Amino acid sequence: MPLTPEQQAEIDEQRANPRPTLRAVSEGMEKHLYLAHPVLDHGLIRVVDYMGDDAAITQAARVSYGRGTKSVSTDEGLIRYLMRHWHSTPFEMCEVKFHVKLPVFVARQWIRHRTANVNEYSARYSILDREFYIPAPEHLSAQSAVNRQGRGELLEGEEAARVLDLLREDAMRSYDHYESMLSQDGQKGLARELARMNLPANVYTQWYWKVDLHNLFHFLRLRADSHAQYEIRAYANAMCDIVRDWVPFAYAAFEDYRLGGVQLSGKGVEVLKRRLAGETVTEENSGMSKGEWREFEGLWG
Ligand SMILES: Cc1cc2nc3c(=O)[nH]c(=O)nc-3n(C[C@H](O)[C@H](O)[C@H](O)COP(=O)(O)OP(=O)(O)OC[C@H]3O[C@@H](n4cnc5c(N)ncnc54)[C@H](O)[C@@H]3O)c2cc1C
Repeated sequence: MPLTPEQQAEIDEQRANPRPTLRAVSEGMEKHLYLAHPVLDHGLIRVVDYMGDDAAITQAARVSYGRGTKSVSTDEGLIRYLMRHWHSTPFEMCEVKFHVKLPVFVARQWIRHRTANVNEYSARYSILDREFYIPAPEHLSAQSAVNRQGRGELLEGEEAARVLDLLREDAMRSYDHYESMLSQDGQKGLARELARMNLPANVYTQWYWKVDLHNLFHFLRLRADSHAQYEIRAYANAMCDIVRDWVPFAYAAFEDYRLGGVQLSGKGVEVLKRRLAGETVTEENSGMSKGEWREFEGLWG
């Protein structure tokens, strides 16, 4: 577990002092609040705060004076309608604030999602921990032969051992140098903001990340997808589990329309119609490019 006893005690103390509130509470989210979910070898994700629940979405959609909920089935139907028709602003009424500990190379992908608020641990002010992401053997893959942005078969045996040794050695050596540059036996030592620059991209950083539900769904659609890199997907999957408990109707609609749904181009619709009418459509007479056809066939066979 990536927490020190002091960190765990702080979390336990927060959970030991519940307070009554007039605000909307999601029972599903309350069970996650403050708790750290481990991700990768030293990472974590935990909910630090949240606002709203499924009812907050229907409340905003109906611009209601009260809670805005009707029957369970009407609320669920309304949320599905909103999701289906990309009526996104009611989903923005829910917010969540995560504390995430993640390798720097994952943080670089994550930070591309601009519609969130971020505050990162300062390595100018504080000293980074000796913690580096080393892939588990089942994730140590070779370069994909067909996808330049993907992984292929697993590395095994001596080759896997050699790669793991190199990763560990490089991490330890660069951290040793980092430490020795910071403190030089009675000398001043290099500034933290400079010493950090020799650390590799698998060193762990931490941040608070606050986002509304609409933009979180956008993030999850891209990063829980099989095309996303495994390491960021591990965080996205952990978030999916949390969001499912937080807003069960909204998550079910998201799972159905976004994660489970597919987007069809106009050409794709035409090909499907022609096929349903009994015509044999091939790549040559489909009007699609090679790549489009490959992806279309991957979906429809
Ligand atoms: C599988 C995968 C591979 C990728 N590969 C690469 C890569 O090789 N190189 C690379 O650089 N990136 C890559 N990315 C990052 C990608 O291009 C996006 O930057 C990232 O997914 C964030 O998406 P976003 O801009 O939609 O999200 P957000 O920044 O959260 O924005 C959400 C939406 O808000 C709107 N928006 C936000 N800011 C602006 C703005 N300034 N102007 C106009 N509209 C705005 C857009 O509609 C946007 O879709 C990859 C992402 C994925 C998922």
